[in-house]
Amino acid sequence: MAISNEKEQNKYQSTRGGEKGLSSLEAVLKGISTDGGLFVPYYIEKEKYNDLKKIFLNNVTDKVEATYEQVAFEIMKTFFTDLEEEELKACIGRAYTDKFEVKVKNNFLELYHGPTCAFKDGALLFLPQLMTEARRKLNFQNEIVILTATSGDTGKAALEGFKDIDGLKVIVFYPKNGVSKIQEMQMRTQRGNNVDVVSIDGNFDDAQKGVKEIFNDKKFNEFIEKSGYSLSSANSINVGRLIPQIVYYFYGYFQMVNKGDISLDEKINIVVPTGNFGNILAAYYGKIMGLPINKLICASNENNVLTDFFATGVYDKRRELVLTQSPSMDILVSSNLERLIYEVSGRNSELVNNLMNDLQERSIYSIPAELKSKFTHFWGGYATEEEVYASIKKVYEEKNYVIDTHTAVANVVYEKYKHNTGDTTVPLIASTASPFKFPESICKALGILQEEKDFALLDLLSEKCKLDIPHSLAELDKLPVLHSTECRKDEMRDAIKKLLNL
Ligand SMILES: *Cc1c(COP(=O)(O)O)cnc(C)c1O
Repeated sequence: MAISNEKEQNKYQSTRGGEKGLSSLEAVLKGISTDGGLFVPYYIEKEKYNDLKKIFLNNVTDKVEATYEQVAFEIMKTFFTDLEEEELKACIGRAYTDKFEVKVKNNFLELYHGPTCAFKDGALLFLPQLMTEARRKLNFQNEIVILTATSGDTGKAALEGFKDIDGLKVIVFYPKNGVSKIQEMQMRTQRGNNVDVVSIDGNFDDAQKGVKEIFNDKKFNEFIEKSGYSLSSANSINVGRLIPQIVYYFYGYFQMVNKGDISLDEKINIVVPTGNFGNILAAYYGKIMGLPINKLICASNENNVLTDFFATGVYDKRRELVLTQSPSMDILVSSNLERLIYEVSGRNSELVNNLMNDLQERSIYSIPAELKSKFTHFWGGYATEEEVYASIKKVYEEKNYVIDTHTAVANVVYEKYKHNTGDTTVPLIASTASPFKFPESICKALGILQEEKDFALLDLLSEKCKLDIPHSLAELDKLPVLHSTECRKDEMRDAIKKLLNL
């Protein structure tokens, strides 16, 4: 009985054990737990794949393809149980219809057909809809202020998703020299009556650490609350950001079956270019829900903390952050790994607490040997900058197909995996950004880089590869810059106060 109860009323708890019994909407509004941990669902439906398979087979008989919205509804209704089905459907419709698409090409899962040309749109178009419903249903009076640290793509996707939505505001912090020119312009030209963008004089980890500290600063939060605001997060530490990403993998899987790339129930390997460990964790949740996945291949760039972690069980961030051509993955602390450890350890919050304390105090932790042996579903690898360039060129020459630098990291690591293990299971490689977001790197890789800079390179890339420039990027250099706030990394609280007129 306990299970069916949980199923009807799926609650959320912190990975560190300090908070329990929140409804999904409460967890989403809060973003991060007061004990510093991350919210996770009590219940993950193990047989979901079989349910979806039935719908898929019915659709095949009736010759209709499952829409993205349909798959999204089936997945998300098991997690957001405090929404009525009609309310959830309406949120999904408002988020995705005519705004977001997922395609599979050459075993790449293209997740970047959204307003900002990166996969984060999928979750960040939905999250504001969910938060609006949450405020309404919980009768929440305060205005929600989304604080976001970005390594480039989250910031823009949050700004686009939340712009002009009543009751919600967004403040984005990005590292001044840690995002591409295009990413920076995407953010600084953002319109909307409720959005602000701030550059800080640090790297992404400084920005993320600063935001996390602000969430955990009791006094500051009390002050903000008294002024009629509540802070929340749109980073993948927010469970409302994580769950919509599970949909990618189910939808991608059924697309592969549709195209005849695999047969129904055939296992696939999923390869994910990883930074904060959110997107690959969503694929892992998919595996728990029954999606036929053999290995989850975690691909890193030269910031290869996770590669070492999967090889040794030791998470050691005591190293310099390397700025690479895949800036959205230039991260040393992958926050969502905490959720994986929690799940794999049988939800041992005491262990999670100890490890996270070690990370805080000594910048390193080591998981017990018997736990390490339970990570066998994962394989970690990394790509060097040279390998990334070579891979973009090779894929273009062999398949006449252009991938971005992040996707290339995944492709390199997949090739290494295949070479090392001999495993020839069909792969599905997450393609997380449009190549037009990083035109300089792509042109360099393809050997067509000339004198041109930044925006002129979009045309060059478009001509050479016979691809259309995504609409939202083509117009970018003609838009007025609306945001130029800068702050020191230890002044983020002051910046927030100023922007909120407090
Ligand atoms: C955010 C991002 C990643 C990393 O995803 P995580 O969920 O943080 O692991 C990879 N590629 C691109 C293009 C991104 O924007």
